[in-house]
Order: sequence, then C-alpha cells, then structure tokens
Amino acid sequence: MTPDRPISELFALQRPLRSLEFFPPKDDAGVESLRATATALRRMNPDFVSVTYGAGGTTRDRTAQVSALLKSELGYTVMPHLTCVGHTRAELAEVADKIHAGGFRNIMTLRGDPPKGETTFTPYRDGLRYASDLVALLKSRHTDFCLGVGGYPEKHPEAPNAAVDLENLKRKVEAGAAFITTQLFFDNAIYYRFVEQCRAAGINVPIVPGIMPVLSLKQIQRFTAMCGTTLPAPLLTRLEVAAENPEVVEIIGVDWALDQIRGLLANGAPGYHLYILNRAKAALALTAGLAA
Ligand SMILES: Cc1cc2nc3c(=O)[nH]c(=O)nc-3n(C[C@H](O)[C@H](O)[C@H](O)COP(=O)(O)OP(=O)(O)OC[C@H]3O[C@@H](n4cnc5c(N)ncnc54)[C@H](O)[C@@H]3O)c2cc1C
Repeated sequence: MTPDRPISELFALQRPLRSLEFFPPKDDAGVESLRATATALRRMNPDFVSVTYGAGGTTRDRTAQVSALLKSELGYTVMPHLTCVGHTRAELAEVADKIHAGGFRNIMTLRGDPPKGETTFTPYRDGLRYASDLVALLKSRHTDFCLGVGGYPEKHPEAPNAAVDLENLKRKVEAGAAFITTQLFFDNAIYYRFVEQCRAAGINVPIVPGIMPVLSLKQIQRFTAMCGTTLPAPLLTRLEVAAENPEVVEIIGVDWALDQIRGLLANGAPGYHLYILNRAKAALALTAGLAA
C-alpha cells in the first residue's frame, strides 16, 4: 500500500488546502451512499478527506472500512480520526499500527466526547485522558505520522477559560501535532482573534478553519449548543425566516459559508476544512462559487 503524503508537506506548498470530513455510516446501505457522495466530490479535487471516529461499537470498524475505500478505490489522501474513548493504551497502539500498515500517515488525534448518556469524560481503564497523551503515543509508535488536533476558537466547553484551553492546545503541539483544525464557527472575527492568541502563546503550526455549511436550522441549533459555537444574529434571523423551506435554508447556508471562506482566504488562512455531513451538494456549490 503506497503511504500517503504527510499533510504537513502539503501545507509547505504555501497554497490554501481544501479538505472534507465524512462520518462513518451505520450500515452497508450507508456505505454505498457515501461511495456515491465521495465519487461526486472527486470533481472538487480536495487535498485530503477525513473520516470521524465514533463513540464506540461497529461505527469504529466503519471508519477503517470507509477510510480504505476512499483511499484505495477513489484515490483520496485520507486522514482517519482516532479518539481515546473506550480504548486501553495497548488497543490504541494496535489501532495506530493498523492505520500505519494501511498506508495512512495522517491522523486527526482527539480525546473524544464522553459516550452517550455520560456527561463527563472518564478515561478508560489503562486508557488515555487527553488528546495530547494520544499524540505522544502515536508519535512514539510511528515517527512518520503527521497528526492534526482540534482547536476551539470559542473555547472547549469543558475548559474553565480560554487561556487554560490555549495552554492545553499548546501541549498537543508540543507533543508533536503538526496542525490544528478548528471547531466550526460562523464569525470569522472569532477565528482571527483565536489565531492571534495562538501565535502570541507560541503556537506556530497551521490553524485550519473548520466550516460547516448550514443544512437545517434545528440541526445547527443542536450542534452549536453542544459545542458552544455562536450563531450570529443575522445568520440566525435568515435561517428562522426560511426555516420551513429546506432548500432556501441550504442556499442561505452555502451563501454564508462562501462569504466566510472568501474572507478567510483573503486574510491568509491556510485553507479550509468542510464539515459536509456526508452530503455533496453544498461542497460542490461552494467549489463552484469559489472558482471565480
Ligand atoms: C476537528 C475536530 C474533529 C473532531 N472529530 C471527532 C471524532 O472523529 N470523533 C469524536 O468523538 N469527536 C470528535 N471531535 C470532538 C472532540 O472529540 C471533542 O471536542 C472532545 O470533547 C475534546 O476532544 P479534544 O481532542 O479537543 O480533547 P483535549 O485536547 O484532550 O481537550 C479536552 C478538554 O481537556 C482540557 N485539557 C486538555 N489537556 C489538558 C491537561 N493536560 N490538563 C488539564 N486539562 C486539559 C482541554 O482544555 C479541554 O477542555 C472533533 C473535534 C474537532 C475540533
């Protein structure tokens, strides 16, 4: 299996990188539909795609299955995600070795959210507590892993304040992370301030903005409440007016994301990562919108 190129090398090309995020489907029918979406998205020619890691159970095997499909069948550079949830240290080492043997060199390295029904994160027996611990473990296992980590422009919900959260982000970079992908945000000013704070704190790796084109008002209200992201009043008002008409909501979502991305690229962002929720239409519309 040809090893993937480390994403850090792509950043070194000094052009904005475009990436897409998939989540693993629950069943075989879902895999087929993801295959169709990913095939349609080849037209966008992203620099890489990522596949999230579920809280437990069979979706974790689907992450491996879908990552392999996207890499070997569709030729994407794939970055599987990996979390500490529900794994012993030895299991994580084993998963890391399998990922490496599959030719993957890039991993989005996370602690993970507490499993459904639990509100606080408890490390698994002989497991890891923080994403920085997983970064260190993966790097000790394979020095040629290129690791991304999550960053929170509006602070991680569990962190007591932004300064502490920033110190913890720095720990991940010091442990060996090569780049940061942010939690979704809708106000670019928040991203610019975050990047400034990171630089002032001595965090010098690329910070890729995570952008989610809104597909539904209810869904985005649920997501933003969960991750502490602000929905700016003008966006919320537009979505509320259009709420009964899903097609109009999608147009508003794409329009907002388009403005965000244009602004981010004009202001020197190293690219953008799209949370596409396994849907092709918005990503293709954004690609077309950004073409000229
Ligand atoms: C780009 C991106 C992709 C994601 N993909 C997935 C996915 O595939 N699957 C999934 O389940 N979830 C995913 N998530 C969600 C993520 O798992 C949650 O946000 C989770 O709550 C925190 O993960 P983390 O890796 O940021 O944790 P950490 O960096 O470990 O931080 C978690 C909390 O602990 C604090 N902390 C960190 N280190 C220390 C320390 N040494 N001492 C004290 N406090 C510390 C931090 O400030 C923060 O409040 C993703 C998030 C992002 C931004």
